[in-house]
Amino acid sequence: MTSTTAAVETEKLAWGKSIPFFAVHAACLLALYTGVTWQWVVMCVASYYVRMFGVTAGLHRYFSHRAYKANRVVQFLLAVLGSLSVQKGVLWWAAHHRHHHKYSDKPEDIHSPTLRGFWWSHVGWILSTRYDETRFESIKDFARFPELVWINKYFLVPPIAMFVGLFLAGGLPWLVWGGFIPTVLLWHGTFTINSLSHIFGKRRYLTTDTSKNNWLLALITCGEGWHNNHHYHQNTANQGWFWWEVDLSFYVLKAMSWVGLVSDLRLPPNPTKFAHLKYTDAQKAQLNGAPPEAPQLLPAMPATR
Ligand SMILES: [Zn+2]
Ligand SMILES: [Zn+2]
Repeated sequence: MTSTTAAVETEKLAWGKSIPFFAVHAACLLALYTGVTWQWVVMCVASYYVRMFGVTAGLHRYFSHRAYKANRVVQFLLAVLGSLSVQKGVLWWAAHHRHHHKYSDKPEDIHSPTLRGFWWSHVGWILSTRYDETRFESIKDFARFPELVWINKYFLVPPIAMFVGLFLAGGLPWLVWGGFIPTVLLWHGTFTINSLSHIFGKRRYLTTDTSKNNWLLALITCGEGWHNNHHYHQNTANQGWFWWEVDLSFYVLKAMSWVGLVSDLRLPPNPTKFAHLKYTDAQKAQLNGAPPEAPQLLPAMPATR
């Protein structure tokens, strides 16, 4: 048995703890009872994209990568918005994501689809018993704010308040179309970046992982689908680096910077952005060839954990 197989076997799904995750999926079927109106579909799309902004601009670009600056009040509001996505705590999310970049597609990577398969990278790791704890050692910079530690612990408070509010305001249809359905879509939309964007798409830059650029995933995820750009140079507020690379989160961040809500949006330096123009033919061939990493990296797995 390889050591990777051994590691995966210690990462069993936590079925009990995962019941709410599956229950919200099942609750979407209530749409068969409520029916649908175009207003509810609009509410669903809005609920999805506002919270996807919270994931991409908040949990990812701000808390994981410090790609721009925000004052403490805006920082907390980004944490609240990020928490509304129901993807555990803000510090939990950012610390695990930093770990992913450190070990992308290497055996330590907790959600590499090339090493552990599609389903593991998509949802398995989140529902496993192994990754429940916040890796505080990786997120010391934000863990010094008590309000962030609080909302990291009580990450369910914002979404529960939102779900109760929806129910009180519009009854079951609002809860289903503004809460359950867009939350499930938001989960799987976000998870595609861990799974599909390391499988489908084009590579512009040579990175040591399997990250790809994919326009469809970029539309679904407010710009995160430009994942090869992102793995090549992580700390940028934009992930679409060229005008045709649609990046909804960056457009909103740019507008927020005009009114002073955020500042110091980091952009890729030109030598980074245009690095691919200087690739040799051999490097270009390497870009689109089969990723050499997976078979070669297995022996590097530490013997003990
Ligand atoms: Zn990645
Ligand atoms: Zn990242």
